[in-house]
Amino acid sequence: MADLPLNSSSDASHQSSTEHPSLEHFWMPFTANRQFKASPRLLAKAEGMYYTDIDGNKVLDATAGLWCCNAGHGRREISEAVSNQIKQMDYAPSFQMGHPIAFELAERLTELSPEGLNKVFFTNSGSESVDTALKMALCYHRANGQASRTRFIGREMGYHGVGFGGISVGGLSNNRKAFSGQLLQGVDHLPHTLDIQNAAFTRGLSPFGAEKAEVLEQLVTLHGAENIAAVIVEPMSGSAGVILPPQGYLKRLREITQKYGILLIFDEVITAFGRVGAAFASQRWGVIPDMITTAKAINNGAIPMGAVFVQDFIHDTCMQGPTELIEFFHGYTYSGHPVAAAAALATLSIYENEQLFERSFELERYFEDAVHSLKGLPNVIDIRNTGLVAGIQFSPNAQGAGKRGYGVFEHCFRHGTLVRATGDIIAMSPPLIVDKREIDQMVNSLSDAINAVG
Ligand code: PLP
Repeated sequence: MADLPLNSSSDASHQSSTEHPSLEHFWMPFTANRQFKASPRLLAKAEGMYYTDIDGNKVLDATAGLWCCNAGHGRREISEAVSNQIKQMDYAPSFQMGHPIAFELAERLTELSPEGLNKVFFTNSGSESVDTALKMALCYHRANGQASRTRFIGREMGYHGVGFGGISVGGLSNNRKAFSGQLLQGVDHLPHTLDIQNAAFTRGLSPFGAEKAEVLEQLVTLHGAENIAAVIVEPMSGSAGVILPPQGYLKRLREITQKYGILLIFDEVITAFGRVGAAFASQRWGVIPDMITTAKAINNGAIPMGAVFVQDFIHDTCMQGPTELIEFFHGYTYSGHPVAAAAALATLSIYENEQLFERSFELERYFEDAVHSLKGLPNVIDIRNTGLVAGIQFSPNAQGAGKRGYGVFEHCFRHGTLVRATGDIIAMSPPLIVDKREIDQMVNSLSDAINAVG
């Protein structure tokens, strides 16, 4: 039982409450439930760069929610688009039926995507986007007469959501261990690219470590290219604590995958829509994959939605057989949901009108200088950054891994700034509307917390 009073309201018209609710029934995701419920952090409102918690305290959002709200909170354009759409048509299926807004959104998205990625498959989340891309890779190779290509290659410390496909190619051991008996067969992992020893406090991409891509050659030798379907990596690992690709690394992965007819999937659930100073990380770092998985900021996190961007040749190869047959036996009840699509169209207009992807690039240097000013504070062993994202890593304290990171996160929150802790790494990824004063404020808050936690 939580230490908060029960909300006894049973009024069916009750919409939402800023009263303290019972915390008993919601089994929270990726949360230490008992710890949280003993000392909850409850957000009630959001506007611009700020949340307001249930007790009326303002909290500066240094995480864009959960890497979602790149246009900031409470955007009237989005809520109006959602409201209009829900009145006009609340829901329509995309199985053997269609509605214009989903097609309009797909077209609009491909105006932003890297060259050749002109087809879009809608999902409701990053996890679904990843599993969709993996299945598409299998579908493509089969249609291409290479059905033996079924193996996947992910990367250590990669995060690709929580579907069985995603955790199989993912490389975060806590996410895998409990399910290890039932992960996908035929998956290998490249080594991760975190290199604190050589590259600590590098601004942007490190010159060390591109050779880690060569392990892919070894895996090809081991298994035979004819058995490998796809390589999936985050161009920048977000959830593992902002791990950047070394200079030349992604290009090398592209060269090797191309050489052997292996598909390259970039998981851009975090990096897409401006986070790293361009619409897609693919564009920022000049490497075009065969598929890109997205979600989150596609519609500013307003309504669950994801999308997989696909090269024309993959799509066209799958469009085979009698025209009355379904080509890809896959999809979701809510694929291309009209209300989520309306939110996405409004979001893309904001990104464009306010030039937020450009803003992310332009603010990079200021943000970089600000976060690197934390170097030298107690126990800070690395700082990594690009665009409007940064990771600050601490050495673990004597109480165990993750305790220092959690302490800093908690201190920041209680003093009015929301950052994200992954183990002993703090990630900052503010909405792209952030200004310099707010950057200073979040970095000062972090500095205070680091000093206080020790
Ligand atoms: N892929 C990446 C790179 C992610 O960062 C995430 C979530 O953070 C996912 C997939 C999973 O997305 P979702 O939580 O929407 O399923």
